[in-house]
Order: sequence, then C-alpha cells, then structure tokens
Amino acid sequence: MAGFETLLDRIVDDISEDGAKGKETKHPAAPALPKTAFQAALRGMRGHCPSCGESRMFPRLLKPFAHCDICGQDWTPQQADDFPAYVAIILTGHIMAPIIIFMVNKTDFSMWTNLAIMIGLALVLIGALLQPAKGAIIALQWWMGLNGFVKPVRPEELLVPNDGNT
Ligand SMILES: [Zn+2]
Repeated sequence: MAGFETLLDRIVDDISEDGAKGKETKHPAAPALPKTAFQAALRGMRGHCPSCGESRMFPRLLKPFAHCDICGQDWTPQQADDFPAYVAIILTGHIMAPIIIFMVNKTDFSMWTNLAIMIGLALVLIGALLQPAKGAIIALQWWMGLNGFVKPVRPEELLVPNDGNT
C-alpha cells in the first residue's frame, strides 16, 4: 500500500504540480483552491486536503480529519457513505478480470492456489483503493457544494472584471 501511494504521488505530482505552485503566497484566509473539480479530486485521492492541497486528510484509513490544520476547511459535512466501497469494488473487478482469465488459462496452478492468489490480490487492491476513492469523493462533494458543504469560490470567479478585454 505504501508503494502504491508513492507511485500515485509521483504520477499526480507530474500531472498537477503547476496547480500547487501557489503554495508560497498562501495564507490561512486564502487557500490555494484547486482550479477544477479534477484537481480537487486528485488532491483528495492523494489523501491531501482538497481545499489547500497541503495537509493530510486522513488520520486513519477511512476517517477524515474534522478540520484542515492549514486552511481550516470543515470536513464534517461529508457523507461519502458506501460510495468509496462501490468505486473500489468496481475498479478491483476491472483490474482482476484479466488477471483471473490469465491465471485460469495460462498457468498450471491448482484451483486452490489460484483461488488463494486471486482472493489475496483482490483484498489488497480493495484496501489500497478505498482511501483514494474516499478522498476523491469527499473532494467532489465539497467542490460541488453537496450535503452541508458551502460551494467554494472558484479561482475564475475571483479574477472576473479586472481587465475588460480578457
Ligand atoms: Zn486545507
């Protein structure tokens, strides 16, 4: 799982580090809000606060902090409920299907060996995908203003009428 998170961090850093460059200019009243829902979801997926992108979101596997230490965002209105589990199961199924087909057709393991490997791998995958799925779902709930969340002010709304031509 640690290896999975490290790999995910590297991929996401490559994709979205430009979005997090506002770190130096940030202060608690003005967190570096994500530019898009996708960036918010990526921050949540990495286990970072979707609002400021800095502090950790989960002290434990599936329990988010009540408030962000850095930007103060309240995470108590989140209601991810069972949705992260559904997402983790769907992803695990799609990853496992070709592996199962390969193992059954191309390996000479006994049925019990195949079964033990498949179940073990499925459990590891679900365990590894649950927290990223929950982080992304909470981030999207927050970004869209669902449940008790107040819809955050979008960066583009902050820049509106400074310049008449653009
Ligand atoms: Zn934050």
